[in-house]
Amino acid sequence: MSAGASAVRARPLSRRVAAGVVTRHEAQQVLISDRCLCGAEKRPKKAFCTNCYGLLPAGLRNRLYLGIGNGFEQAYAGSVVELERIHG
Ligand SMILES: [Zn+2]
Repeated sequence: MSAGASAVRARPLSRRVAAGVVTRHEAQQVLISDRCLCGAEKRPKKAFCTNCYGLLPAGLRNRLYLGIGNGFEQAYAGSVVELERIHG
């Protein structure tokens, strides 16, 4: 399917994120960064690149707008788990 999603390797957070644990600081780093977890470029203030974001179910996408301290961390962790399942 998504043959364009190449080089899905660099995932520094993924191990803890898989357990649903993202600290507020890590969440801030995610939002500041211009790199998506998949290694692609993303816009700062967005959690993921458009490709990854587009793969997420609507429920998770909406929760990514909750803001840090308001549920973003949990939504982000859940999204990473979902993306890893999708990417394999
Ligand atoms: Zn991505």
